[in-house]
Amino acid sequence: MDIDFTDIEYLKNPDSITLKADFQQFLLSLDVPTIIDITGINTHKTRVITTLLHGNEPSGLIAIHRWLTQDSELPTPETNIRIIIVSVEAANASPRLSRRYLTNGLDINRCFGSHLDHGYFKRANLIAKAIADVKPEAVVDLHNASGSAPAFAVSTLISTRCLSLASFFCDTIILSSLSLGTLTEQNFDCPTVTIECGGAKDEQAHTVAFQGIKALADCPDLDLYQQKNPVDIVYKPLRMKLKSHVELTYADQDEGNSGVTLSNKIEQFNFGSARKGQMFGWLDEQGLDNLELINEAGANVINDFFTTRENQLVCATHLRIFMATTNIEIATKDCLFFVVNMPSTDSI
Ligand SMILES: [Zn+2]
Repeated sequence: MDIDFTDIEYLKNPDSITLKADFQQFLLSLDVPTIIDITGINTHKTRVITTLLHGNEPSGLIAIHRWLTQDSELPTPETNIRIIIVSVEAANASPRLSRRYLTNGLDINRCFGSHLDHGYFKRANLIAKAIADVKPEAVVDLHNASGSAPAFAVSTLISTRCLSLASFFCDTIILSSLSLGTLTEQNFDCPTVTIECGGAKDEQAHTVAFQGIKALADCPDLDLYQQKNPVDIVYKPLRMKLKSHVELTYADQDEGNSGVTLSNKIEQFNFGSARKGQMFGWLDEQGLDNLELINEAGANVINDFFTTRENQLVCATHLRIFMATTNIEIATKDCLFFVVNMPSTDSI
């Protein structure tokens, strides 16, 4: 497929014929990244919602479609809302909504803020410009976690407004200093958060996205808004990665595989913390040398967080992990999970 990386479609206050009967038909009617502008009561302010940067993470699209079509008329938000549906080609590639990005393509959420200006980098630059053009007062980027998980927010900065924004959707925000080239690392002069709505196939994740969008749209003044619920702040998680060329498998028992074998129940730890001594999987004779956990100073601190018990991989301390997945491609290319140290008084 030849992609025109400069092409963006604009829809303003689309009618029900344009929005189609359901989100699948609507998605099929789109060819390229699509911007939907909805006029609000206060037209001097605009809030931006981006979604489908990853073509296999549909909660944002499902929720946006639900919000736009729930009544016979379009909703009237308190401010203008600019919605940006990004990786339309990847989402529409067969089987639909199964590809994070196109084969031979790039993950666009690693292409922002680059000085490069071709292909996916060009597209990322144009998306960032479409956000900056409206001088947004908030930017929310909706994703799904790669495994089953409760919703949480991620931001590179924690402010009261970021916490308020996160509280529309969830009760945990991760302060991330990771520099990956994501959309929400970019500075739009306003609170900017990523929301990981939960698993891509979880109805609950679509509901989280829908309720959050509705609350954001219905909020007259973000500065006066009191957080809907308290939001836990988690500071600077590290990425647990395989060293290069290490093999990864998932199993429910030790099968003597080479490299790393993670428990196929690893996703359950996304829902809480893991205590010292908790077993996560099995290692070959290379032990912890198969893995790396790089801190901000660039040092491998794997031994501060994990240890071995015979050939088992176990927690050396109380931890909280996020975004554990049994999707082998994501785990291998991206990371196995994110990890932070927890106070020892924390309960599971
Ligand atoms: Zn994503």
